[in-house]
Amino acid sequence: MGQITLKQVTKKFGDVEVIPPLDLTIHDGEFTVFVGPSGCGKSTLLRLIAGLEDMTSGSMDIDGMDATSVPPSKRGLAMVFQSYALYPHMSVRKNIAFPMRMAGMDQAEQDKRIEQAAAALNLTDYLDRKPGQLSGGQRQRVAIGRAIVREPSAFLFDEPLSNLDAALRVGMRLEISEMHKRLNTTMIYVTHDQVEAMTMADKIVVLRAGVIEQVGSPLELYHSPRNVFVAGFIGSPK
Ligand code: ADP
Ligand code: MG
Repeated sequence: MGQITLKQVTKKFGDVEVIPPLDLTIHDGEFTVFVGPSGCGKSTLLRLIAGLEDMTSGSMDIDGMDATSVPPSKRGLAMVFQSYALYPHMSVRKNIAFPMRMAGMDQAEQDKRIEQAAAALNLTDYLDRKPGQLSGGQRQRVAIGRAIVREPSAFLFDEPLSNLDAALRVGMRLEISEMHKRLNTTMIYVTHDQVEAMTMADKIVVLRAGVIEQVGSPLELYHSPRNVFVAGFIGSPK
């Protein structure tokens, strides 16, 4: 499961309405990309879904349950931070175990989930290494492993590749897409990069000034943009 529905959600910072009333359904298992120019509200929308920001009005369901006032840790969603958010002095195994240890989960259950996550992410041979002994792609997988063990119904990514150089970014796009296929879990991925959106998404949500201009598959947006903004944004290289 992992269906997220936003109903008439708004967000104001002071007097400034950054998100006017917005309706959106994110479907179970889909790789959904929020794309739009800098400052259009992508991060704010993701943080509203995660519960890291409170909405000003409106409501939100996760799998049919009202989640509007549910604290972030109880939403069953995992925000994946960039790979450098790993603990450098801990092994991969300990990094992945960290959230379970914090939650006081028993050791046998922890070990089982670590084995499963490592298998899903091709990390089985790297569990005893430190993050410094891994490639950028492997480190990103460990960061995702740490999220997987909490068995989230959706993963949320905010421009996870924006600090990487172009060559590494291409490889990481593939890694994340492959992970999505393997796990088959809802993923919401924020980027201002049209190429990332077009190559990774099942569904693209194009935002401008907090307003959804269009929702569709990459092909739908490419062939049938609803307006000049979408056409220009999807059509123009970065
Ligand atoms: P994006 O991620 O698309 O670049 P953001 O969601 O970060 O855009 O920001 C959308 C708008 O909201 C911007 O105008 C930004 O300045 C404003 N904003 C974001 N966070 C805050 C905040 N904590 N306080 C005030 N304004 C904010
Ligand atoms: Mg942002």
